[in-house]
Amino acid sequence: MDCLFCRIIAGEIPSTKVYENDKVYAFRDINPQAPTHILIVPKQHLADASELKGENAAVAADIFAAAAEIAKSEGLTGGFRVVTNCGDDACQSVHHLHFHLLGGTKMAEKMS
Ligand code: AMP
Ligand code: ZN
Repeated sequence: MDCLFCRIIAGEIPSTKVYENDKVYAFRDINPQAPTHILIVPKQHLADASELKGENAAVAADIFAAAAEIAKSEGLTGGFRVVTNCGDDACQSVHHLHFHLLGGTKMAEKMS
């Protein structure tokens, strides 16, 4: 298994877990870009958001359900941002689908 996030999910590489259910694993980003920066990852290995199709649409639903729960438990009452980078133009560096949950500060209006 040479996928970093598959190895984190399997517990082979340490992470700071903030949430887990049977479909989703979430942990703190090692290089946070906001006061709260959590990575929400499906346990199923998909390379990126371009692999989300009708038949696995539940993956996206599971991620966003987790995001809402985590935002609540992290006290992000002012709101939060969810971002996924897909491919080289978006600077995706880990090729296991993941969503950045960012919050705890007023973020820039411009996103790129
Ligand atoms: P992306 O650039 O969208 O693919 O995001 C990958 C994210 O994974 C970056 O924000 C990294 O800081 C983060 N990251 C890389 N390795 C680890 C790790 N071992 N534990 C936690 N976060 C990591
Ligand atoms: Zn993986």
